[in-house]
Amino acid sequence: MSEQDNCIFCKIVRGEIPAKKVFEDDDVLAFLDIKPVAPIHVLVIPKKHIASLAQVSETDAPLLGKILALVPTLATAQGADDGFRVIVNAGRIGQQEVQHLHIHIVSGPQPLGPMLAR
Ligand code: AMP
Ligand code: ZN
Repeated sequence: MSEQDNCIFCKIVRGEIPAKKVFEDDDVLAFLDIKPVAPIHVLVIPKKHIASLAQVSETDAPLLGKILALVPTLATAQGADDGFRVIVNAGRIGQQEVQHLHIHIVSGPQPLGPMLAR
């Protein structure tokens, strides 16, 4: 059994579990976070299983660039027309919960507060 078989985000990519998709192409899928931490909370993932930002290499650069370049369009489409925050949790210290690379786009309407509690 491969890592992908039980990966919750791979299951969303394969259509095995539902998600509120907001964008999809051959390489990338974006959907609403099931437990939003802000009024706007979108996850953007590569369709290909990459476990973590902690495990990418230079060969992943075009895909990562594509994902990041989609952020302003996705954010604006969700109503985040006055800024947003992008978060990528990685590994144990980053407290990454789902082991399939994803970026969080979160936004207001109110300012989000400090990046981390001091
Ligand atoms: P992270 O801690 O960066 O790994 O974040 C994982 C995120 O995935 C959390 O914000 C969860 O709420 C979200 N999540 C987990 N399962 C689902 C799901 N089935 N559909 C949408 N979002 C999910
Ligand atoms: Zn996966």
